[in-house]
Amino acid sequence: MRSTLAITALFALALPARGQEAPRPIIDIHLHAYPALQPTAEDSIWIPLEIPLPATDTLLMDQTIAKMEQHNIVLGVLSGSRELVAAWVDRAPDRFIRGVQVSDVSDTPGVETVRGWIESGDVEAFGEFSVQYADIRLDDDRVMPYVALLEELDVPLFVHLGPGPRHGTIREGSRYTIDAGDPLALERVLAAHPNLRVAILHAGWPMGDDVIALLHSYPQVYVGVGVINWYIARPEFHRYLQRIVDAGFGDRVLFGSDQMHWPEAIDLAIESIEEASYLSEAQKADIFYHNAARFLKLGH
Ligand SMILES: [Zn+2]
Repeated sequence: MRSTLAITALFALALPARGQEAPRPIIDIHLHAYPALQPTAEDSIWIPLEIPLPATDTLLMDQTIAKMEQHNIVLGVLSGSRELVAAWVDRAPDRFIRGVQVSDVSDTPGVETVRGWIESGDVEAFGEFSVQYADIRLDDDRVMPYVALLEELDVPLFVHLGPGPRHGTIREGSRYTIDAGDPLALERVLAAHPNLRVAILHAGWPMGDDVIALLHSYPQVYVGVGVINWYIARPEFHRYLQRIVDAGFGDRVLFGSDQMHWPEAIDLAIESIEEASYLSEAQKADIFYHNAARFLKLGH
């Protein structure tokens, strides 16, 4: 009897009540397995003070996974250190595609090291590739061996182009430059590697002209909308996204949150798409799920 009750209770949780829509499936192509942030007074210049910060690494992981369950985020592309990514995958098997964050290619990790990670199955997506933070442009010779490897192994590239933290350039030790995020620097990569799948994270904001030129000329390019959907002014996000959609590229936009240290940013990121009056329900479903399923070759 007890087991029957338990099963009934499970179904009551899993199934929507009569008359309610099941939540649509979502793929979040931009999640991070980061340690909890312990902010100092100087961090108040850039952190979103209104969003709660989990105090420990475990709380950050558990609250982020709980947000995925709440919103029916069936899959997330996860990056951070290889150790933290492995820990999160252990906690929620089958919920993540394993990425790796690489923020510098001046000397490490080395392209043969990356080959080993991919061939062993430890890394399934390359990114977040955030060498903009090391003032390295994508047309830099040091980038080329990595993108050649990704094309050879058919592993998608998730590349940071666009905003860093507010006033981030005055942070101690920052090497971030706007110049290194020049979207047109990606053209050398795309021209040399036509079979490389590339997701431009943050949609290259605010360089919309250049991003639309890339979408127009290179069919393997998609854009993710993480962080610009909750960290910058919402009207500016909508103008930017609407322009990309109106230009005819709604089928190349990928939902992402880039929640970093703030699980509740996922709520805001989803809300930003749900409230977009210029998107049809079919376009929202494309952005939340179908475009990513195509980009990631799910089911292939
Ligand atoms: Zn980024």
